[in-house]
Amino acid sequence: MTRFSMRLLDLFYPNRCGCCGQRTAFDRLLCPGCQAALEALSADYSAWALQNAGEGIPWDGAAAAYRYEGAAKAGVLAMKQGSRNFAYYAAKRLAERVRAAAGPGMPELVTWVPVTKSRRRRQGYSHAELLGKAVAAKLGLPVRGDLLTERAGQVRQHQVGGAERAEYAKRFHSTGKRLSGQTVLLCDDVLTTGSTLRQCTELLKESGAARVMIAAATVRLRTENAESPPASG
Ligand SMILES: [Zn+2]
Repeated sequence: MTRFSMRLLDLFYPNRCGCCGQRTAFDRLLCPGCQAALEALSADYSAWALQNAGEGIPWDGAAAAYRYEGAAKAGVLAMKQGSRNFAYYAAKRLAERVRAAAGPGMPELVTWVPVTKSRRRRQGYSHAELLGKAVAAKLGLPVRGDLLTERAGQVRQHQVGGAERAEYAKRFHSTGKRLSGQTVLLCDDVLTTGSTLRQCTELLKESGAARVMIAAATVRLRTENAESPPASG
């Protein structure tokens, strides 16, 4: 799309910041204030996500971009409500982190934490899929959206905690499609207890993935290990 047609489009569909939702310039993903606030929440949480996101971590590599607070939290919530700008913005940083964390063991394909068909229909799209596809585009990797599914259920994840949340994650299952020893990049918007990503990682390995690397746009740090990640970077 040319800049002229982007300007024209902006007259009819005003571009909005992917975090705060305020009108912003047609060629920006975030308003300047949110972009600065988001960058202040950026640190390399990859090592943290690899080591400290819970016990018995099954993934072989991890990348994460922002601390789930302030502008980053607003961006994730806006993305869940249909705004694409935060996904595109976060995908760029996340792709850089994936490259840095993967080294020579770069993923060969990208997938994401699935949602139920009914939720996808209700929302019109899946935010994890949006993020996964944006990261894949940045990395020039193919996507696979046919490996995992989520079974419909009553409980929404934000309503449960701890053991219940681990139980909830068992709602994911494999479609039966086989992989043949690839390294898979598994994307999600928020890494909290890791139970969702843990379950999905195990399923991908059962499906034939040799290695699974996770990519979380944000990490929600628990109080007991809030000091673990680097303060900046
Ligand atoms: Zn903003």
